[in-house]
Formats: sequence, C-alpha cells, structure tokens
Amino acid sequence: MKLSKRVLNMSPSPTMAITAKAKEMRAKGIDVIGFGAGEPDFDTPCHVKEAAKRAIDEGFTKYTPPAGIPELRKAVADKLKKENNIDYDPSEIVITDGAKQALFALMLSVIEKGDEVIIPAPYWVTYPEQVKFAGGKPVFVETKEENNFSLTLEDIKPAVTDKTKLLILCTPNNPTGSVVDKDELEKIGNFCAERGIIIASDECYEKLTYDGFKHVSIASLSEKIKSITVTINALSKAFSMTGWRVGYAAGPKDIINSMIKINSQSISNVNSIAQKAAVAALTGSQEFLKDWLKAFDERRRFMVEKLNEIPGVKCLLPKGAFYAFPNVKELIERAGFKDDFQLADYLLEKAKIAVVPGTAFGMPGYLRLSYATSMDNIKEGLERFEKAVEELL
Ligand code: PLP
Repeated sequence: MKLSKRVLNMSPSPTMAITAKAKEMRAKGIDVIGFGAGEPDFDTPCHVKEAAKRAIDEGFTKYTPPAGIPELRKAVADKLKKENNIDYDPSEIVITDGAKQALFALMLSVIEKGDEVIIPAPYWVTYPEQVKFAGGKPVFVETKEENNFSLTLEDIKPAVTDKTKLLILCTPNNPTGSVVDKDELEKIGNFCAERGIIIASDECYEKLTYDGFKHVSIASLSEKIKSITVTINALSKAFSMTGWRVGYAAGPKDIINSMIKINSQSISNVNSIAQKAAVAALTGSQEFLKDWLKAFDERRRFMVEKLNEIPGVKCLLPKGAFYAFPNVKELIERAGFKDDFQLADYLLEKAKIAVVPGTAFGMPGYLRLSYATSMDNIKEGLERFEKAVEELL
C-alpha cells in the first residue's frame, strides 16, 4: 500500500517504543526495570474515579460538544484564574484528548507550509514530528547544561527569522526537568509579542516542582503576552490520569475556535465520562499531591546522587517533572560505544534496565531516566546500572 509522504516522514514515539519493549521483555519473564515511563506510578485519586462511575450510572455516555462540556470549560477557566492568575473566558478554552492532541490541533491551526517553529532542545519527542506533519519546519535551539538546561531569550534569538511562526515552551521540562523563571519568561514573552510569534506554552508538569520553585504561566505576565500565547495543559501528569486522555488549551479565540473545528471533524469530543472525571479532579481536593511530591522528591534526590556515583556519569538535580537527564558522554567514550543508543541497548541487555537515549530528545550523549517508579525499583535499577558499568570499564 502506498502511504502518504506525510506519515512516512513521521517517526513513532521512541519513548513509547522503549516502554513497550520493556513490557514485552517482562511478559516473557525477563526481570526488566523500566525507567522509560512518562507517567506517575500512583493511582488516579479515588474521588476522580468515583465521578467517572457516577457519569456512567447517570447515562452521561453520549457525544458532547467538540469544545468540551461547559462544566469542564468553566472548571478549567476557574483553575487558570485561581492557580495561574490568567483570565480566560470558558469560550477561550477547548478540551482536548490530552496535551498531545491540544498541541496537534494547535499546530494544524496555525502552521502554514514552510513556517518555522522554534523547538528548544532537548525537547519532548512529539514536538518536531507534529510540526513536520503540519507542514512546518522545526528549528532547534540548544539549551545549555551549564545553565541547567534552562531556556533563555539569548538561546532563541539567533534562530528567529521572518518565517518564525511559533515557539514551543516547555517548563518544567521533559526530558531535563529544568524550569524557566519569571524574569526570563517575561523577556521571552515580550520578544515574541513584539514579533507576533505565537507561544505554545506546554505546562503539563506545572505542579511537579521541587525545592520551593513555583511555576509561572507565561500568559499571566501581561495582556500583550497573553494575546500571543496558547496555554496547554492536561490532567495526565498532575492527577495521574494519563489513560483518561483529558487536556486543554486556552488562548486567543480565533485559534481556539479553529482547534474546536478540528475536534469536530476528527475526534468529535473527548470521552464524556473522562470529562466528568476531569471536573471532579479540577474542583476537588488536591491534598494527595503533597504525598506524591514528597515521594518524587525523595526519589529525585536518591537517583541523582546514585547516578553521580557511577563512573563517567554526571547528573544535574532537576527542578521539576519526574526525569533525570544524566550526561553520559564520558562513559560512552571510555566504554568505546558509538553513541547513547548503544549504551541504552547495553543497559537493557546487560543490566535489564530500560532507559531512553538522549538522541531521542535531540541531545546525544545523555540518557533520560524517569523516577516515576518505586524507590525499590530505583535502588535495584541503579545498582544494576553501576554493576554493568563496572564490568565495562
Ligand atoms: N507534553 C509533554 C512535555 C509531555 O511530556 C507529555 C507526555 O509525556 C505530553 C505533553 C502529553 O501529555 P498527554 O498525555 O496529556 O497527551
């Protein structure tokens, strides 16, 4: 069958592939520890599950408006006002199938063929694929390890041309866990606003920050910045609802209306039951987060400390999300490996641990390890990592 160039040009998600490979090995009875997970290992909170059960019992099982149910759009507007200090009317909000589909609908809405989209590297694997699918050209700018991988305006400036349409901002960041502070966001926001560059602000990990760092939404910084920003978020990471598929975007009405039109002709609507569950999540207690953050924080510190004890590995302490992103350039060189893919393969074969090579995120010479797994797994997995390296050097 002759497939479209569009789809042939698209690579499948490497993080999902690694997770699937680890699962497959486990199904065969091989004791693999997975560090590939992009989702919390905690259960969805009980009150959220109860709301979904109620929705089923009450027969809330039919099509909903493509923009999402009014109750959920309002809950999102209230949340953005209360937690992020941004005023959005519910009509400026669209409910999407996770943050991933929000981004997809956004790119299809604003990118013309040949438009350039600035993607700071390392980046979440999906961004460039979606940009290309929409006909755009990804333009990568590297964030610097010596700056904790935190994006600065100076990183972006050299990449801007008159074709620049969109900047993708992801803070807290996947894969590095880096964050961008308010001052830098202000500089970036003003720069983009002056040039009419749209900002896609992916804030999926906003609630997962450490050491007292408070996430700031770029759209909250001024009306001017808000007018060029689409704020994207999801319930996936903050409420451990990755499988429920609920996200949202808030932004200028014309863009949101276009995204709603795309919904109406593609997904129709997000699952009605999941939308009811999302209302319960956004309006209910978030006390559970304290325990989750405590557990993530302990694992984060432990993982980074252990990684730094492994010869040839250097790891920064991330400020957000649930990933460590160690620099393994020295290890690769000392082991005589070709690249981070070969190291990741070796670790899977020898140590039976699944990690994602940095190249998948546009940053060769690094690995991404998720600490959204139990402390026991982290302890055992890092011991195996260390032993496998000892045998190598
Ligand atoms: N954005 C980032 C930075 C992510 O890491 C992920 C998931 O890994 C997503 C978006 C997608 O989230 P969702 O599951 O809500 O589509």
